[in-house]
Amino acid sequence: MGAHEPVETRYARVREAVATTAGDLGRDPASVQILAVSKRQSVDSIRALAAAGQRAFGENQVQEGLTKMATLTGCDLEWHCIGPLQSNKTRAVAEHFQWLHSLDRRKLVDRLSDQRPTTLPPLNVCIQVHIGDEQRKSGAQPDAAGELARYAAEATGLRLRGLMAIPPPETDYDRQRAHFRQLRVLFDTLRDDGLAMDTLSMGMSGDWRAALAEGATMLRIGTALFGPRS
Ligand SMILES: *Cc1c(COP(=O)(O)O)cnc(C)c1O
Repeated sequence: MGAHEPVETRYARVREAVATTAGDLGRDPASVQILAVSKRQSVDSIRALAAAGQRAFGENQVQEGLTKMATLTGCDLEWHCIGPLQSNKTRAVAEHFQWLHSLDRRKLVDRLSDQRPTTLPPLNVCIQVHIGDEQRKSGAQPDAAGELARYAAEATGLRLRGLMAIPPPETDYDRQRAHFRQLRVLFDTLRDDGLAMDTLSMGMSGDWRAALAEGATMLRIGTALFGPRS
């Protein structure tokens, strides 16, 4: 389990653990996707994971993502932007990424939808919702998320996929679950109200089990897959 363990070994172990945990929860392992969070990880380790079968990679800095994409052309990877997005960076996301998990305001909807090239399929988006009372207030407030989700669902350049959250780190499983439950309840409510969504992006290396128990469909896992970041 050392820092220098090959990523292929970590990958096999994480996939196995996710599938086993999903099965124990009575969930179909095929209903859960792993997003490999490759921020501040080397291109070589991304290539190794891609060779082992991983396609979806997450970056939280637009420029870092673009640099890696340029190096990894030909690998047929799917790139997810998962970090806070400044308005002046929307064009790069619209033109080069397949997903954005951190949609948190209407201005981003307008810009991304306008800037998404018509030659590409719509950009897949999740509304980031602020859960828990963390210091850094990223994400839409829960009571505003529904309106934003409806607005994004109308945008021609976007395809609304679901909700995302980064709850405050907790070590206690039940406390982790309580945060994720808030996002899942909101997800269920909005779907009952008629919004089509299929993705609950929640859970990271330290809390993915709790997220899975609350219905996560996409786990964003970094260090457990790649080892410590540089
Ligand atoms: C870094 C990051 C992750 C992954 O974190 P790990 O603890 O390394 O698994 C997941 N989601 C977001 C938004 C991140 O920025």
